Amino acid sequence: MSEQDKQKHKARMQAHKEKVDERIAQATEERGIVIVITGNGKGKSTSGFGTVARAVGHGMNAAVVQYVKGTWPCGERDLLQQVGVPFHVMGTGFTWETQDKETDMKAAQAAWEQSRQWLADPQIDLVLLDEITYMLTYKYLDVDDVLQALANRPVHQSVVITGRACHRAVIDIADTVSEVRPQKHAFDAGIKAQKGIDW
Ligand code: ATP
Ligand code: MG
Repeated sequence: MSEQDKQKHKARMQAHKEKVDERIAQATEERGIVIVITGNGKGKSTSGFGTVARAVGHGMNAAVVQYVKGTWPCGERDLLQQVGVPFHVMGTGFTWETQDKETDMKAAQAAWEQSRQWLADPQIDLVLLDEITYMLTYKYLDVDDVLQALANRPVHQSVVITGRACHRAVIDIADTVSEVRPQKHAFDAGIKAQKGIDW
């Protein structure tokens, strides 16, 4: 690399660092946030559980509500319960498995009751509401109830919401929203869902 290239690189990096430092200096507010991980690609729940692991690793208190996927095995649940993370698992499977709307609605309400308690508990630093978006899509839960509980939560508490097709009103109040877009999925190539990767 020529001396000129080195100098150019240095100047570019310096300018970049100044911009980054400026933005870091501007971010002074300290409060919990609402994170939405939505979209059709793989990685939404993995991200939510990754954040729970992160918080727990710092000695913080996290709680998890699993909407929809209640009867399935789940590696993260088995691990996190061992370190004392409380879980509420919605007791039914997918709607197209149970085919019983009334049972699903009752299960959704019970899961929401627990969610609401954790969203009001200042001892809980992070709440993961995994797959809650479907409850709003199916109207098993009232979006205004959810928005109100999120708005009234303890100021330092963060919440991760996962699931496809997140309701617009939830996206609007969220602080961080990521959409996971599928470029490829192994399942489409005929590869079976597998332990340790998909659950
Ligand atoms: P993960 O739990 O792996 O992070 P996810 O939460 O983003 O996935 P969900 O919609 O909750 O996705 O679906 C869970 C299951 O469906 C997982 O087994 C996942 O691998 C699979 N899956 C996710 N996205 C796709 C896709 N685009 N095509 C096929 N299967 C998918
Ligand atoms: Mg998921």
